Amino acid sequence: MPRPDHARSRRPAMLSAIVAGAVGLAVGGGLGFVAPSSGAAPAPQPTPSASNAVAPPTIGAVPAVTAPGDPLALDSTLPLSDVRTVETDLDQRAVEIWSTKDPTSAWVMVNKANPLEPSDYEPQGLVSLAGLTGGAGERLTAEAAAALVDLRDAAVADGLDLAVASAYRSRGEQQALHRQYVSQWGAARAETFSARAAHSEHQTGWAVDVHWSSECRVKQCFADEPLGRWIAAHAWEHGWIVRYPDGGAEVTGYRYEPWHLRYVGVELSTRMHEEGISTLEEALGFPAAPDYAD
Ligand SMILES: [Zn+2]
Repeated sequence: MPRPDHARSRRPAMLSAIVAGAVGLAVGGGLGFVAPSSGAAPAPQPTPSASNAVAPPTIGAVPAVTAPGDPLALDSTLPLSDVRTVETDLDQRAVEIWSTKDPTSAWVMVNKANPLEPSDYEPQGLVSLAGLTGGAGERLTAEAAAALVDLRDAAVADGLDLAVASAYRSRGEQQALHRQYVSQWGAARAETFSARAAHSEHQTGWAVDVHWSSECRVKQCFADEPLGRWIAAHAWEHGWIVRYPDGGAEVTGYRYEPWHLRYVGVELSTRMHEEGISTLEEALGFPAAPDYAD
């Protein structure tokens, strides 16, 4: 039964697509998506000299956030909300469905066709990333911050480090950045890599740009660096996706950004990995969003 959240959607088929996807996960069935190249690369060579032990971010001072649920082992005491609801699949098993409209949901869809609502949305309980290399002054939601620490720890275990380039940005900060790029490059080019205000995942607190070297910071050559190759191979294991994959611009609206990671939770990132789905639009049953409507 459609939730009020989805009833407001202009895409009535969306929920069924999501449920179908979740059922696909629950029963191990494929969705048949044909996804663009993900740009996946072989495992990187460790670079021991880059290892840099740092303290985890402070997460004690913020409200507790429910960890992503295992859809196959739902606890009946799990606190449910509009953000995360439960549907029953064809085998009468409970499947957790997260909202794609509510920006407090890790499945929220933000692209050129789906601006944030409200447009001035500010996440509550953002957590400092000061414990990560380059993370001073940067913040994410508590759940994403914890997952980023997991990702960093796994990178360190493989002889790498992970530096933060940019995380949460307010609507105003995004607007200023977008204006700067438009004046520098012109709107047509700037909007292949920079979102308008209220259209950026960075405003949700669920997205982070990571980097390895200053030379390839927020540049496509990051994909060929040790961390870039490692991210392409392992980010999904910790609930992250490379949100703008190589060759995905006709679906996502953005050129390849191997550095821009979006937290979606391990359940969804694992399904996308196993089924070869490289864009969030396809994973959640959204139409391609190559351009703004106006
Ligand atoms: Zn980004």
